[in-house]
Amino acid sequence: MSIKTIGHYINGQHIAGASGRLSDVYNPATGEVQAKLSNASVAETEAAITAAQAAFPAWAAMPALRRARIVFKFKALLDEHANDLAKAISLEHGKTISDARGEVTRGIEVVEFSCGMPHLLKGDFNEQVGTGIDTYSMHQPLGVVAGITPFNFPIMVPLWMIPMALATGNTFVLKPSEKTPSASLMIADLLAEAGLPAGVFNLVNGDKEAVDVLLTDKRIQAISFVGSTPIAEYIYSTGTKNGKRVQALGGAKNHLVVMPDADLDQVADALIGAGYGSAGERCMAISVAVTVGNIADKLVEKLKEKVKTIVIDQGLNEKADMGPLVTPQHLAKVKEYVDLGVAEGANLVIDGRGYSHAGHEQGFFLAPCLFDNVTKDMRIYKEEIFGPVLCVVRAETFEEALQLVNDHEFGNGTAIFTRDGEVAREFTSRVQAGMVGVNVAIPVPIAFHSFGGWKRSLFGDHHIYGTEGMRFYTRLKTTTSRWPSAAKSTGSEFVMPTMK
Ligand code: NAD
Repeated sequence: MSIKTIGHYINGQHIAGASGRLSDVYNPATGEVQAKLSNASVAETEAAITAAQAAFPAWAAMPALRRARIVFKFKALLDEHANDLAKAISLEHGKTISDARGEVTRGIEVVEFSCGMPHLLKGDFNEQVGTGIDTYSMHQPLGVVAGITPFNFPIMVPLWMIPMALATGNTFVLKPSEKTPSASLMIADLLAEAGLPAGVFNLVNGDKEAVDVLLTDKRIQAISFVGSTPIAEYIYSTGTKNGKRVQALGGAKNHLVVMPDADLDQVADALIGAGYGSAGERCMAISVAVTVGNIADKLVEKLKEKVKTIVIDQGLNEKADMGPLVTPQHLAKVKEYVDLGVAEGANLVIDGRGYSHAGHEQGFFLAPCLFDNVTKDMRIYKEEIFGPVLCVVRAETFEEALQLVNDHEFGNGTAIFTRDGEVAREFTSRVQAGMVGVNVAIPVPIAFHSFGGWKRSLFGDHHIYGTEGMRFYTRLKTTTSRWPSAAKSTGSEFVMPTMK
């Protein structure tokens, strides 16, 4: 059987890759290689930038309202094809189809928000800042911007960027994850069907070779990146060194603090969903539960019971709660972390390593793992595992729990479960993280707020989408104007101008 090869989308055309550098795209449920991806060469990446550069003047000059109408049609097409998109995600990522539908919905919400961009693009105006002088400001597009995205959200994360960048008048080059390229590529066809002119959106599949072109080519004005922290740091330092605006969102180790007054059944349900949903391959997954006081034994017992009810299966089963991990390499890495936790002395109370899925023995399945008595010096606590591995850390007091969150290298999301409003308020005020949940385990901000972490979970100044997204993709221009008649001419002035 011949296997399909995935190429690029440049200047309104699907292009077969010509680099000869192929990589594997798996079906994680069966373990089979289902497609080959052609990794873009320097020349192919440059061709995408050239197309985007050529399309920029006309797209930027189009009234924002007309651009928004194209985005509006795109949103309708996404709704229509939501199930196909979810299926494409599930087949390459492994996540369940219901979870993939949720991902598509969260992406569409940013498209919806972008339809109102003409409103957000309004500048400020002040009449008479000096005699006969008015001042007004405007937000103008940057030019060609690029997006580099991770494997775990092949639709949602590109949609955090694309509609925002296009609606503000930029043209775009997307470099999706080489592990999950197909759903991202479907975006190109839907944008074209919505009426987007050729060249405004381009996509190159590939690896470091393509990324390095985007980071160094002078025609790229800004880069949005989402992925792991070491790569985020590389993208930020290289992109900014090359004069680009960069927002680079990195990895996470999200803590959920459980206060002694919390409803432990609610907490256990929240931890099961947030720890093991999407097999833990979410940047907002909860990977650490910090118990305060003497509730840990009770909570661990409840988790042990609830884990038994998790339905593990290939993602297309509507009844599945959890699918396989994305690649054999990632499965091996997560298993190594579980081995390491045991070696470090944590108590592995649920061991998912021996799991084999009947009928799909070659699939990249790992059942949920739960560690108790994890301590802050252990690598399984310090490092991002990105799999179905939940760690319980026992703290005696609220202050100790808060200190743990604040001392951690990452500061993406965090949550507290309590019935005490004063404690919750204290936590939200003092915690060092970009997104905080109060009795909400995965506090991903809605599209009209903005998404982003603190510390080594985000490099750059702007969070992604929402008002912050509009600011990231535009430059502010402020005009000071006077319309004097010749009769009122005041002659030359040589002192520093002040408003009179
Ligand atoms: P990754 O960093 O391996 O890859 C992300 C992107 O960078 C991909 O497009 C990849 O092709 C590219 N890339 C990889 N290595 C590169 C290199 N050496 N040079 C240049 N480009 C390179 O991340 P991943 O494994 O695809 O995704 C999982 C990671 O993403 C996790 O760490 C997760 O926490 C993080 N993530 C963060 C957020 C967030 O919002 N903060 C959201 C989703 C995922």
